[in-house]
Amino acid sequence: MDLRSRIPTGPLEGKWERHRFEMKLVNPANKRKYTILVVGSGLAGASAAATLSELGYNVKCYCFQDSPRRAHSIAAQGGINAAKNYQNDGDSIYRLFYDTVKGGDFRAREANVYRLAQISVTIIDQCVAQGVPFAREYGGLLSNRSFGGAQVSRTFYARGQTGQQLLLGAYQALEKEIATGGVTMYPRTEMLDLIVVDGRARGIVIRNELTGQIESHLGDAVVLGTGGYGNVFYLSTNAKGSNTTAIWRSYKRGAAFGNPCYTQIHPTCIPVSGDYQSKLTLMSESLRNDGRVWVPKKKDDKRAPHEIPEAERDYYLERKYPSFGNLAPRDISSRSAKEVCDEGRGVGETALGVYLDFADAIKRLGDATIHERYGNLFEMYQRITDEDPYKVPMRIYPAVHYTMGGLWVDYNLMSTVPGLHVIGEANFSDHGANRLGASALMQGLADGYFVLPYTIGDYIASSKLPPVTVDHPAVRATEVDVTERTKRLLAIKGKRTAASFHRELGRIMWDNCGMARNEAGLKRALSEIPALREEFWENVNVPGGSGELNQSLEHAGRVADFLELGELMCLDALHRTESCGGHFREESQTPDGEALRDDENFTYVAAWEYAGVDRDPILNKERLIFENVKLSQRSYK
Ligand SMILES: Cc1cc2nc3c(=O)[nH]c(=O)nc-3n(C[C@H](O)[C@H](O)[C@H](O)COP(=O)(O)OP(=O)(O)OC[C@H]3O[C@@H](n4cnc5c(N)ncnc54)[C@H](O)[C@@H]3O)c2cc1C
Repeated sequence: MDLRSRIPTGPLEGKWERHRFEMKLVNPANKRKYTILVVGSGLAGASAAATLSELGYNVKCYCFQDSPRRAHSIAAQGGINAAKNYQNDGDSIYRLFYDTVKGGDFRAREANVYRLAQISVTIIDQCVAQGVPFAREYGGLLSNRSFGGAQVSRTFYARGQTGQQLLLGAYQALEKEIATGGVTMYPRTEMLDLIVVDGRARGIVIRNELTGQIESHLGDAVVLGTGGYGNVFYLSTNAKGSNTTAIWRSYKRGAAFGNPCYTQIHPTCIPVSGDYQSKLTLMSESLRNDGRVWVPKKKDDKRAPHEIPEAERDYYLERKYPSFGNLAPRDISSRSAKEVCDEGRGVGETALGVYLDFADAIKRLGDATIHERYGNLFEMYQRITDEDPYKVPMRIYPAVHYTMGGLWVDYNLMSTVPGLHVIGEANFSDHGANRLGASALMQGLADGYFVLPYTIGDYIASSKLPPVTVDHPAVRATEVDVTERTKRLLAIKGKRTAASFHRELGRIMWDNCGMARNEAGLKRALSEIPALREEFWENVNVPGGSGELNQSLEHAGRVADFLELGELMCLDALHRTESCGGHFREESQTPDGEALRDDENFTYVAAWEYAGVDRDPILNKERLIFENVKLSQRSYK
């Protein structure tokens, strides 16, 4: 498998500039002759589709929701990073680059991350020009706050609704292009397969969710901005619809899957409350700017929080990581919460929770300021838990939140299938083994507004793309595969719902491939998942038919893919015997319980290649070369 990263040579600072100059261009008058299929209209997809259309390409854009405005991106709360240094607190492009490489535990490409930090400043200008209402200081300047893993304030935000406001900006840009005819939008449409003709991505097979109609759409290149796969764990902070189908089916058509086991578990979520819960809720990391995390010093302390005196509280993040305190990165904060709960010091009914306490901040700043900063988050917490965080500390616990893994892409964001580009959370991305807060929005918008529009032009200008019609045997064969699979799912008529399989898979994944992993657990999961998958294909019950709106059918198809992906994630986690970032192998820790990397053996991206039904996937490795930062043990102390 060709894993050339195509990182430009030369000094880090000039790579992207030079690469842009060296890439081939498509003549402005020729762009309209090319059709680009963009699957996804979240921040990554919408920004890419709008920009490509503005450049003159003919764009088709797809999403499974009824409107691009309902993409999961709308849920993003806390903010978006940019190295503007408006606070004059020591930030710079280099510092954002360094924080991100270190935050990812030195498992990301230097060149990609540096480009991301460079572009970050332009994103803010772009969004302000679109009218995104970022928070401002009294004097009118854009305001910033801090996020985990950084000692500067570089996070731009719109209260606790940053994703929503950014998405409205991208959506307006997309709508404008829809109105001009440059983009044709296909809502309520699910991509079910990738069409590869003569080794190149030339189209997708889609299902119209309202009519059930299956058809092929063809073009010159395909872009996937289809989001993350955290819902493989069933319970996560992701939107319920987020799934792996687009990238999984593309993997099975030849796109390598990078670092599938790298999952981010966010420390600041509302704890699980019962067996039949279907979703977890994030309380934004921004809350850790002012909230203090603590648990009782004593085990099994059942006293109410206000009855526990200061001297009997353990502010464990401030104690263990005095430099970063409550803003320690997510992987480290999550593991610390798990540790104190494992010691029997967890709080709440299930004892799987820690306090996030605003009492000091309220005393210092007053209710009004706290309301201004976090009002909507406090209200959301109160509605869900019936507890008032202005009076009682919030209870939080880690939950699955983001997937750093995804389809492998080169510097041009192209997968191992020529013509198939992958952007946003769907690619294996720039975050290494752990993403820092407020970096996903930055990456998705960098990819969509500023990287892909250049690099896809280079692909088109340097490729021979003869016309393909729907009668092409490869197109027909892919359509048949999709139709047969749908028929097969409907014909099983078993006794269990797809949701019950999904819940069981999620449990296996959380127990064995979650916050901490070990060899025995991963091997157990690797025997349980295939058995569960086998039962699924014999005993799932999918009511309804194919030629109609059928959400059970949609869900069953996605669960079938999760049942395969889960196995690959465990395989990846098993082979990586080091700990790094969100991948914590219990066998590999420092004496004080921190993640212990094995740079000698694992400084690579694991790019898994599909080898066919009932055959083990093939592990390919892209070596990571660090020329600008020194690999070191991460310390936030
Ligand atoms: C609760 C929450 C809060 C967050 N807060 C922040 C934050 O403050 N800052 C930050 O940087 N990050 C944050 N994140 C992460 C960030 O929101 C996501 O990583 C990012 O929005 C992903 O954007 P995306 O465009 O890649 O994918 P998505 O927004 O998930 O969009 C995916 C798109 O693909 C479409 N799609 C998927 N599969 C198919 C298919 N098979 N066929 C057709 N269409 C398909 C969907 O319809 C959708 O349009 C948060 C995440 C969560 C869960």
